[in-house]
Amino acid sequence: MSTLEFRNLWVRFGSGRSAFDAVRGIDLIVPSGKIVGLVGESGSGKSTIARTAVGLSEPHHGSILLDGVDVAHAKGSTGRVRQRIQMVFQDPYSCLDPRMSIGSSIKEALDVTERRKRREPGTYPSTSRAARNARIGELLTMVELDSTMAHSFPGTLSGGQRQRVALARALAAEPDVLLADEITSALDVSVQGTVLNLLLDLQQHLSLTVLFISHNLAVVSRVCDEIAVMNRGEIVERGPAAQVIEHPKDSYTQELVRAIPQIGVPLFGKEEIEQ
Ligand code: ADP
Ligand code: MG
Repeated sequence: MSTLEFRNLWVRFGSGRSAFDAVRGIDLIVPSGKIVGLVGESGSGKSTIARTAVGLSEPHHGSILLDGVDVAHAKGSTGRVRQRIQMVFQDPYSCLDPRMSIGSSIKEALDVTERRKRREPGTYPSTSRAARNARIGELLTMVELDSTMAHSFPGTLSGGQRQRVALARALAAEPDVLLADEITSALDVSVQGTVLNLLLDLQQHLSLTVLFISHNLAVVSRVCDEIAVMNRGEIVERGPAAQVIEHPKDSYTQELVRAIPQIGVPLFGKEEIEQ
């Protein structure tokens, strides 16, 4: 279990006159074992926050702490701490190498994890082929895919199945924190619910700390304990999900709430969900 904390985080793109602050001094805590939703329209800076947490962007100012350790500036042994934070992206089509079988793709992630573990004192991870194949099967089962899918290639999978494989790859790193960035946005509505339910099950089962990013407030309210609302690089409102939805204080949040088709009706009931 781990707490992820953003402290006065600024992320700047470009420099001089063309400098643009995509993230403007945000403070956000994702408590250990909780799901915090980050919602806001496209371009508000949500992905930039997540990308900075996994080292794909640099903070201009401020820090990102994993259990108190600054991961944004982490190098060497603390750089490995960052692997405890894994990100799953929106596009299930670009995140998998089409030439690689699903099993090889997951094995690649397992290899990185093994290398990390070998450097940790007192751990001797098993690297036998049989143990690794068993682990690949286990990860596929965890994301509710048949373990024989290890031999398939991404081209034969549906969008929902690819997103499950992306989750399995992230889980191969044995993360404490998962950053889920619009993970259902590219999927058919009928599949979105199954992937959200899977995320909820995994989160509970593995006690994951999750930052759940979406432009869709209805989806966020369906999965999150707390919600933070972003507008133009700033967090304009935050609170328990029910409070933000039922009593939005900020005018921008009020707009987002008005855009939800039908409040009070669950967006995806478990019973109506099909594979
Ligand atoms: P969101 O995920 O909320 O849609 P992003 O974090 O992707 O928003 O983007 C926030 C802003 O930062 C947008 O205006 C986007 O154009 C800009 N931006 C994102 N990445 C880069 C980059 N690598 N270089 C320059 N501008 C960027
Ligand atoms: Mg985004």
